Amino acid sequence: MNLREADKHFIHTYNRSVIFEKGEGMYLFDNEGNKYLDMGAGIAVSALGYSNDEYKQALKDQIDKLIHVSNLYFTEPSIKAAEYLSKASGMDKVFFTNSGTEAIEGAIKLARKYAYNKDKNSKGEIIAMNHSFHGRSMGALSVTGTKHYREPFEPLIGGVSFANYNDLESVKKLATKDTCAVILETLQGEGGIYPATDEFIHGLRKFCDENDILLIFDEIQCGMGRTGKMFTYQHYGVKPDIMTSAKALGCGVPVGAFAAVKEVADAMCPGDHGTTYGGNPLATAAVCKVFEIFEKDGILNHVNEIAPYLKDKLNVLKDKFPDKIKDVRGKGLMMGMELYGPAGDVVSKLLKKGVILISAGTNIIRFVPPLVVEKEHIDVMCEKLEEVFSTNE
Ligand SMILES: *Cc1c(COP(=O)(O)O)cnc(C)c1O
Repeated sequence: MNLREADKHFIHTYNRSVIFEKGEGMYLFDNEGNKYLDMGAGIAVSALGYSNDEYKQALKDQIDKLIHVSNLYFTEPSIKAAEYLSKASGMDKVFFTNSGTEAIEGAIKLARKYAYNKDKNSKGEIIAMNHSFHGRSMGALSVTGTKHYREPFEPLIGGVSFANYNDLESVKKLATKDTCAVILETLQGEGGIYPATDEFIHGLRKFCDENDILLIFDEIQCGMGRTGKMFTYQHYGVKPDIMTSAKALGCGVPVGAFAAVKEVADAMCPGDHGTTYGGNPLATAAVCKVFEIFEKDGILNHVNEIAPYLKDKLNVLKDKFPDKIKDVRGKGLMMGMELYGPAGDVVSKLLKKGVILISAGTNIIRFVPPLVVEKEHIDVMCEKLEEVFSTNE
């Protein structure tokens, strides 16, 4: 199978250049047997790396028992997964979805329903952030702060305005008596790896409390241990009213969730929301096993141990190539390297050298490796990065 043939029957929304066949630990193998060090983890999904035996076995066992029943019934894995996620997030109640974008849809609907219950005439306005990314469906796109993603698909859902991340005053200026929610990534991913300041997160919590506005943290990318706590808001000691999760929640099986504190969650009643697949036993068996492996293997400890090493190594590169690298920032194993030029060029050159990295925005290289990454992998990646920065083609 060559690439041109492979692309023939796809709507062209991606520029793909490799056909992958299998994965093992930190590595992926293409259909010609080439080996790649994966420092992108399928976009922050494969936190346990590839082909984890215990994880695979749990899925195989679940396939033998039951793959799907409708959400008209409970299943053991879904009950257990809801309990794991509630405990880990500090939320009271969860709803499982098939993706991140659907988790955002649910969060928006829940916020609007909560506002509607208080005041049937509420306009349900939402304040989102510039440079944010919340997904591609019409609702999630409506709160995504990159104009060129949104514009061709307008009109989107109304009542959304955009404030500047880490600028509390810009949020306050947009708030009206009809504002029902503020939504933000606790650490902006796609838009360029921008961590939130303490003042911003604490200020938002206080402002939302004082004005009866719901605070929604999107933890789809930065959650599930990526920054060294189970969820990034836990670094700030601040709880949202609603949170979203996906990506590493199932470590490869498509699953997401939105969760809320009881008072907010109870705004929804039977008939308000639903999904055919969301949280089916196969997906939630994966979620359960992910939480169990995180606990058993001490994944959070490992992230906290290895993350400073990644940061130091990236800063060494920055000192070495001050004319190419503008900034290194991020938290835990979610780091960004802002370049003076396009990140896409560097990413393609690295792929040819057998290292998978991804970009964020136009000028930022994003580092979101599997959470099981070791120093030796970071060393290899940095060697290859250095080779690319040293050559001036
Ligand atoms: C990836 C992502 C989404 C969308 O998730 P999908 O599973 O691709 O629909 C939403 N929010 C954030 C922060 C993300 O990184």
